[in-house]
Order: sequence, then structure tokens, then C-alpha cells
Amino acid sequence: MKKQINAHSSILDLIGNTPLVKLNTIAAPLTGNFYAKLESFNPGHSSKDRIAVHIIEEAERKGILKPGSTIIETTSGNTGFSLAMVSIVKGYDCILAVSSKSSPDKIDMLRSMGAKVYVCPAHVSADDPRSYYEVAKRLHQETENSIYINQYFNELNIEAHYQTTGPEIWEQTNGNITHLVACSGTGGTISGIARYLKEQNPNVRILGVDAYGSVLKKYHETGEFDHNEVYPYRIEGLGKNLIPTATDFNSIDRYVKVTDGESAHMARKIAHTEGMFVGYTSGAAMQALFQLNTEGEFTEDSNVVVIFPDHGSRYMSKVYSNEWMENQGFFDIQNAEVPEKIEY
Ligand code: PMP
Repeated sequence: MKKQINAHSSILDLIGNTPLVKLNTIAAPLTGNFYAKLESFNPGHSSKDRIAVHIIEEAERKGILKPGSTIIETTSGNTGFSLAMVSIVKGYDCILAVSSKSSPDKIDMLRSMGAKVYVCPAHVSADDPRSYYEVAKRLHQETENSIYINQYFNELNIEAHYQTTGPEIWEQTNGNITHLVACSGTGGTISGIARYLKEQNPNVRILGVDAYGSVLKKYHETGEFDHNEVYPYRIEGLGKNLIPTATDFNSIDRYVKVTDGESAHMARKIAHTEGMFVGYTSGAAMQALFQLNTEGEFTEDSNVVVIFPDHGSRYMSKVYSNEWMENQGFFDIQNAEVPEKIEY
């Protein structure tokens, strides 16, 4: 008889079912119980693996994609990496149109994962034919059997989290979750989880994290796009300068805004106190917990789940670089949780 081998059929089998881990030291000053959902345990090291595999498999079901077809998207971030990974395993071409602002490191990483990367000028408007939006659209129109992922405006982004992340959290907390805290970029993560959790228990509080410089919180409160809210900021993947349809604003109870500096310090503090090497937006989400705690959002009985979207290794030349922190002026912040420089 053949011996059984306990192996997964491909790396894609490892997407999802990420661990929920209690936050001990860092959350000690807060009221309630705090648990982090570690999305860096996905094989592509971020929550974006979930949407990449879901959107691609939906297109396969609809017969749009066949081996040799092409996946197109406009991102140098986590979504690009996840799409490149899924494309390799499934035998698709992956084309990513990225802005010339993207770091050479990121572009090398995507090319290492087999993606064709078009670097488009950053300083042109979105409707300029040279912009990465227009280049991606044109490539999509010109390429047979291609799909344009368009994560900010794709309902399947929400569905991926409704079908996986939401149920996982409900089961991992045995239905005892009282609050969800998640960063809002495309909004897919928070909206998908929110829809699922609210169906199970409408009293679960859904708290979104937004950046200063982004329009989401104000839009949620007023229903209007306020141009004064939009200005440059450092955190990548959090907040936006447009209103994504992948955000279900009705499913979110409130937003809280966080600063670049405090979020960066908080990411470093998570690494130092919990041994979890997390990305910049995990720091943003943790910073939001402190602000929400100060505002009396939690009680002793609260079971709060916070999403940590990705891994710290992608931020070595940013949040985890003393030089970068110094150049941003982040060591000069008064009252930051960890204002001191970390010596290595
Ligand atoms: N954190 C990071 C690092 C991200 O890349 C993203 C995605 N843009 C988010 C948080 C926010 O997730 P979502 O797009 O699902 O709102």
C-alpha cells in the first residue's frame, strides 16, 4: 500500500485560516481583552492573498480565465504580490502597472514573483494616457482573456472577506467578539468581515481606522467628499483620496483617524513587546485601539479583535529603519507611546 503523504497540493492551500493571538503586554493598559488576527500568516504574507485567489477563481468559474490568460492590476503593494503568487501557481501572466514612486525593492520583488511590471510616471493625472490607471485599462482592453482586478471597485473584494475572514473570526471567538477594529483602504477587509459578523450579531461594533490625509472618515460622517481632507501622508494601504465602492460604509459604525508618526512607533512597539513583526498598518490599528480606549469605547467584558494586515519585512527601509524615522521627524513627537529611538 502507498504511504500517505501529508502535503498541501499547492501553496494556495495555505491561504486563510490565519491565527488569532492574544495581545498581552502591549494591551495591558487598555480596558478589555484584545486579540490580533495575524494576516501575515498567509503564504503571500498579507490579507490580500484572500482577494487574489477569490477574484481569480471567480473569473475561472465564469470561464473568463484559462491557462495562459492575463491578470492585470495597478498596485505595487500587497495585492500585486498576492496576484503574482496566485498567477504563478495557476499558470497566468500577471501584469502590474505601478507608479514610478514605487521603491526599486518592491518592483524587484514583484518581478521575482514572475510579474511583468510597467513603471508609469507618477506626476501625471489619473486620466493621462501614461498614468498607471490608463495603462492598465488599455492593456486589459487589448489583451484577450484578461481580467482587470480593480480592487477599489470590485464587490468580490468584500465577498472574499465575507466568505473567509468573517467566519474565521466568528468561530475563533466562539461568537463572543464584541468589537472589530480594522484598517480601511479599499474597505474590502472591514466591509466583508462586518457584513458577516453583523448577520450573526448586529451588536458587534465595527470600528474603521483611517489616516489623516484621507477622506474616508469624513465621507462616512457626512456623505460628502471634502477635498480639504486630502493631503499627502506616509502610511501605505490605509485611507484613500477617493471613495471606493469596495467599502460598505453602512456596515461600519465609526471611523477613527491616526497619524503617521504614532502608527510607526506603535508598529515598532508591537514587535518589541509581543514578538510579532508586523507592518505599518498594524501599528495604525494598534494606535486606534489606544485612542478608542481613551474615548471609552471598551469595557472590562469587551472582546476586541484587531486585524494586523501584513508582515514587518516589507517595511525594513521605512518603519524599522532609524534613519527613515529620523528623516520623518518621528523621534521628535511628543507624547508618542515609544518616543525613544530603538538601538540595535
Ligand atoms: N494594510 C495594508 C498593509 C494594506 O495593503 C491594505 C490594503 N490596501 C490594508 C491595510 C487595508 O485593507 P483593505 O484594502 O481591505 O481595506
